[in-house]
Amino acid sequence: MSFSNKFRIKAGQKVNLTEIDPDARDGHHDKESAGAEVAELGRGMEALQFRLYAENRRSLLICLQAMDAAGKDGTIRHVIGPLNPQGTRVVGFKVPSAEEAAHDFLWRIHRQVPARGEIVIFNRSHYEDVLVARVHKLVPKAVWSERYQLINDFERTLAAGGTRILKFFLHISPEEQLERFKERLDDPARHWKISLADYTERELWPKYQEAYADVLERTSTAEAPWFVVPANHKWYRNLVVSKIIVEALEAFDLSLPAPTVDLDEIRRRFHAARERLDKKDREAKG
Ligand code: AMP
Ligand code: MG
Repeated sequence: MSFSNKFRIKAGQKVNLTEIDPDARDGHHDKESAGAEVAELGRGMEALQFRLYAENRRSLLICLQAMDAAGKDGTIRHVIGPLNPQGTRVVGFKVPSAEEAAHDFLWRIHRQVPARGEIVIFNRSHYEDVLVARVHKLVPKAVWSERYQLINDFERTLAAGGTRILKFFLHISPEEQLERFKERLDDPARHWKISLADYTERELWPKYQEAYADVLERTSTAEAPWFVVPANHKWYRNLVVSKIIVEALEAFDLSLPAPTVDLDEIRRRFHAARERLDKKDREAKG
């Protein structure tokens, strides 16, 4: 069984998040060795990205979803950080702007999906439209309940075009969230990150967990699987997400494209250019 499979939600699988331990680290060693492993995985990821970019045929879309302070930003910094910025984009989705809200909920999403060769990371995503929209009754049930199917169809369209989609739910406990809120409160450098919504949303924890359970059950598909990542330990979270991304890139079985030119002809031109330069050099030296 691949490493990824341990965290993967099977299509249609009923999910009870209270039965998935956010503290898990599966006998995994300590923070230091995990950090070294994440760095090593980062180097592997970059090498694979190089081939993905060179191949210019397929792409990778990574969706990050989680409760506040679960570590979406930290995951991006640690896991995605080593990638080549040329070929990578991070897109955050906030409360829709007036223009976005005037369109269907997938409009703003579709225009940000990766082009061939690209890796794109969504910090929040179209899933907000069946999470916050459902919990806060921003739209009637008749509207949000249709969206699971619309999302599956949309993701199938992307997959058919060569986009691999990985969706991560960073799973933390309410105790860990409060601990992180405390760290923010104790650190003046992080006060800017605090919002009142952190606390009002926290009150709705069970409703969110219920909404997440439905998302996981109804939108984990072969072409766009969900992974539930135990995220109380940041180092374990980084390790799991890194490994799953590397496994997905390896599964692409990427090979470098064949040259588009006649290399013998290019070599002849190279030597001719070299000779001209050497000749000029000799003449200059007199
Ligand atoms: P943050 O990620 O902390 O910057 O917060 C972004 C906020 O935008 C969160 O409170 C999200 O729930 C909210 N948000 C993102 N997408 C949507 C959406 N489609 N509808 C309503 N609120 C959203
Ligand atoms: Mg927030």
